Amino acid sequence: MSTRTERIWNEAVDDTRKRSPASFEQWFSSIQFDGLDRGVLSLTARDEWVRDWVVAHFLPDLVANLERRLPDVKPGGLEVRFRVSAEIERPVCTGRTSVRPRAPERELTPRRSERPQMTQARAALAAVLNPKHTFENFVVGPSNALAHAAALSSAKGSPGYNPLFIAGGTGLGKTHLMHAIAHKVLEERPDARVVYVSAERFTNEFIEALQHHRMDEFRARYRSECDLLLVDDIQFLAGREQTQEEFFHTFNALHEADRPIVVTSDKYPQQLQRMPERLVSRFSSGLMADIQVPQLETRVAIVKKKAHLEGIELLDSVAVLLAQNVQSNIRELEGALIRLAAKSSLTGRPIDEEFARTELAIVAPRRANMVSVEDIQRAVCSHFQLSNSHLISKDRHKSVAFARQVAMYLCRQRLKCSFPELGRAFGNRDHTTVMSAVRRVEELRQRDPQVNAHLEAIEERLASSEN
Ligand code: ADP
Ligand code: MG
Repeated sequence: MSTRTERIWNEAVDDTRKRSPASFEQWFSSIQFDGLDRGVLSLTARDEWVRDWVVAHFLPDLVANLERRLPDVKPGGLEVRFRVSAEIERPVCTGRTSVRPRAPERELTPRRSERPQMTQARAALAAVLNPKHTFENFVVGPSNALAHAAALSSAKGSPGYNPLFIAGGTGLGKTHLMHAIAHKVLEERPDARVVYVSAERFTNEFIEALQHHRMDEFRARYRSECDLLLVDDIQFLAGREQTQEEFFHTFNALHEADRPIVVTSDKYPQQLQRMPERLVSRFSSGLMADIQVPQLETRVAIVKKKAHLEGIELLDSVAVLLAQNVQSNIRELEGALIRLAAKSSLTGRPIDEEFARTELAIVAPRRANMVSVEDIQRAVCSHFQLSNSHLISKDRHKSVAFARQVAMYLCRQRLKCSFPELGRAFGNRDHTTVMSAVRRVEELRQRDPQVNAHLEAIEERLASSEN
């Protein structure tokens, strides 16, 4: 290997090390660099666990860095070959670092006798985390900037608020952010005890612990042995009173000990149904960050990022086409991209605009969410024979207020707009006003046939304007 390649390798290693020196030293003391030649990077890892960790946490950065430095390798073109061998003769690092670990008496690389246990806990966590759901792979835009910044500071330590409550619709990145927090903490503070759990799993584990008289173990896991608790999809606890009670005490124990808690939900705290007030008020007592439907530019950036991660070559124009067609859910956007790529590799046709248009017509026939807030406002106004200015005015007259509430409800239901966003679209109203409007119409619709008839008539009007 030439000295030039060696220099490039060393520079890329130095850059990657800077991101989290202590963690880098720890993991790369079990990695050996075997060479970098003709677009192939060869490494040896002490065992599979080390290999998988390094692949998930350091490699994307390191490889991108190397690709930028290697003129003859295209982005995404560097191949990595890993060998696993217990004999590491020339580790990349010594495992010693000038950065002070959090617990100075603890060795950075755990002693052999300590390793299996730590490895088990971390392996269990790593097994449930998606290695691609990192902060590096999360595209930040106005719709998610606050949630992203808050998640990042929770990962870095004491964020100054507790809990962090992340609210947002389906497929908008809540779970991605939770995994990103867990990855980052494990990377930067490998000794921290992070528990990531969905509310559903929490419930199941609780029931099992009750049945098998293992509550002490359960409580230790979620209280005394937990430095950071991440609970995904808390709305699942709705109506589950005994689990809510247990979670309430878990929450308090961690909160009193100043240990961060992050919770996600598809609803705002006040909107959670069949959830006791004391839990709702706990959820609202820290920072509430919402994730809204991303704007076009952010969606384009996300689809491009995803294509890069999946090794799919994507024209800018096709990225825009995809982002324009799939508007309200990133999971669906990714699904459309993967389907295009799969179809392209099966048929051998490149993913150009024409191909994407034909395919998108199949995956995304006229979608209900092609209507806009303005379309809904227009349909509501003509149904109730009001002018648009009425709808966004401060007029509290009963009939105007009702029409406004109906319009808010329809926007929320069909477009999945966030409450603050809707507040802005309806004359800069507060998001709590929108929330109670939506809830009111939802309730009325169930029990008042007249309200239901109004809604159906407006929906029909919208459907005919779409065609
Ligand atoms: P949620 O938990 O809110 O339902 P997920 O976190 O599962 O949604 O996200 C759905 C998919 O969309 C995931 O594959 C995730 O990586 C992707 N995604 C969502 N938001 C972003 C973003 N801002 N940047 C990159 N990927 C995103
Ligand atoms: Mg989720």
